[in-house]
Amino acid sequence: SEPVLDVQKLKTYFYLDQNLVAKAVDDVSFSVYPGETVAIVGESGSGKSITALSIMQLINKPGRIVEGSIRVREKNLLDLKEKQMTTIRGNHIGMIFQEPMTALNPVFTIGNQLTEMIRKHKKVSKEIARNKATELLRVVGIPRPDAIMKEYPHQLSGGMRQRVMIAMAISCEPELIIADEPTTALDVTIQAQILDLLKDMQKRYNLAVLLITHDLGVVYEYTDRVIVMYGGQIVEQAPTKKLLSLTKHPYTNGLLSSLPNMEEDVERLGTIKGTVPAAYNFPAGCRFSTRCPAVMEKCRQINPPLLQLDADHFVRCHLYEDGGDE
Ligand code: SF4
Ligand code: MG
Repeated sequence: SEPVLDVQKLKTYFYLDQNLVAKAVDDVSFSVYPGETVAIVGESGSGKSITALSIMQLINKPGRIVEGSIRVREKNLLDLKEKQMTTIRGNHIGMIFQEPMTALNPVFTIGNQLTEMIRKHKKVSKEIARNKATELLRVVGIPRPDAIMKEYPHQLSGGMRQRVMIAMAISCEPELIIADEPTTALDVTIQAQILDLLKDMQKRYNLAVLLITHDLGVVYEYTDRVIVMYGGQIVEQAPTKKLLSLTKHPYTNGLLSSLPNMEEDVERLGTIKGTVPAAYNFPAGCRFSTRCPAVMEKCRQINPPLLQLDADHFVRCHLYEDGGDE
């Protein structure tokens, strides 16, 4: 089938100064298919959020998309005018942010905001829109939806606000939801509830979901495919089970070994040493070379290409080239 979202050779750079360019997203290509949940995983500074914002055309100066294409149902979003893009944002792509307070308007009730959103999308009467809004709140598991309709965002808990955000995102019947760290600001038990809800909605409406997260722990249960980013580039990509069991890239390995070990209930000692290099100051060669435990001489000179290992597993690392360990 055709992808819902197809990103090709995307480059989003930030022109910080005359000679200072931050290559936040640097030649990134991937697709998301209908009904599929794909995670983009990486530490902060890896380029994952900038990738999401680029898709939504929410990059501000000094940032700019300098190259590539972003196709949603055959339309290249980079060719659209802002007005057409607003339509795409409402009708085809729903967005869920880390902090719902920044996306909700504090001076309007939940009912007002949800009703307005529905009426922007469909020309229906206020009454019909209000009924649909109440129904949506019920769908996302909000108890007493009639009462919540009359409340303001600050009166709700973080978890409830995130449920409202999900209701807003699905209210326009999108094909794709982009969720950027949707549970990072929440308690662990609430996190699981929100991710379960997102999964329910994904199944119920056959949505494609692009989940941006720094937590490789959440991908196992909730995603079909994983894209690992480092230094503005994809370093590994595979179906979730394959990625977790046949891990190839040293960076993915590092992310995995820094996950808490459930059985022993202790943090394993495998955390990756060092910090993510700034996007205006990548090392020559492989961008992970300054932290990689397997670094070789050639890694410091040549940035490896993304290699295809089999039908659906890709890795950017010299170790997997023919004769890579010579
Ligand atoms: Fe490590 Fe070299 Fe592979 Fe980069 S190319 S991840 S430095 S082994
Ligand atoms: Mg982020």
